[in-house]
Amino acid sequence: MTEQLQWPAGSSDRIVMLGVNGGPVVGPDEAKPALALVVNDAVYLVDCGLDTPRQLVRAGLGFAGIRNVFITHHHLDHTSGLPGLLLHGWTARPPLPPVDIWGPPGTKQKATNLLAGFGDEIALFESGGGFGAFMAPDGHDIEVPPDRAVVPVMEDANVRVDATRVFHGPEVANAYAYRFTVKGTGKVVVFSGDTAAHDANLAAIAKGCDVLVHETQDNSAIERIAAELPFPRGEELKKHLFEAHSSVLDLPAVALAAQAKKLVFSHYTPVAQPPSTWLALAVPAAEAVGYEGEIFAPNALDVIPL
Ligand SMILES: [Zn+2]
Ligand SMILES: [Zn+2]
Repeated sequence: MTEQLQWPAGSSDRIVMLGVNGGPVVGPDEAKPALALVVNDAVYLVDCGLDTPRQLVRAGLGFAGIRNVFITHHHLDHTSGLPGLLLHGWTARPPLPPVDIWGPPGTKQKATNLLAGFGDEIALFESGGGFGAFMAPDGHDIEVPPDRAVVPVMEDANVRVDATRVFHGPEVANAYAYRFTVKGTGKVVVFSGDTAAHDANLAAIAKGCDVLVHETQDNSAIERIAAELPFPRGEELKKHLFEAHSSVLDLPAVALAAQAKKLVFSHYTPVAQPPSTWLALAVPAAEAVGYEGEIFAPNALDVIPL
């Protein structure tokens, strides 16, 4: 059920899985959440984990195509790469253009304050090195009223972007999933962000999508980790992860309910594991519920053609 990676004729539109490992603990061989939707020459960044600047370079995308960054929620594994993106993007050749950062309430303030402690660094390279003036980002708070399931976020020549609120544990008031509709081809890509399956808003915004990129958790691995922690830390960890994230075993049913043509895993928790491990869990679950779409468990930097 793994995907053959081939370009459809005439289109290089694609998703680049820059970073696929969730959670705040940094591991030696992983990259924190960041996904790039590439349409024509434009790069739409969804989340900006720690490793984002280097992963953009490794992927060959660089910075010049990025004008919009979409934050799913304010957990630090999704945002801690923002200062590096802006600073190293500024000094890249070609450089990062001025960017708009979109996200839940708090995003506008975050964009304003993000580099408040880096005035000296910015001033030094503005005054020498040939980097030119630093262009501060524009932040935008996306408001999703309780009575609206889906709200429009932005639109340009390439894409239309909509958002919905998803449940990501009781302490996160605003976690969003994003739907991108590619204008040239009509293809629809949905990024779940962090959420606990089954989420009715996610099912609605993902209805009939071509690709559903969904966060993924191995609950059996959490049981093993929790058993080794002293009481009550293990129980607390389990409670948080089980109520805020999605078991890989539930995802084929999520994709089936959404009638998603393709299911792509991302944000692996609680540990990095080979794609075959995730597929060994997902494929029997897909057979049990009758989901016949493609399922892909990517590594960082894998490319999903649209
Ligand atoms: Zn996360
Ligand atoms: Zn989160």
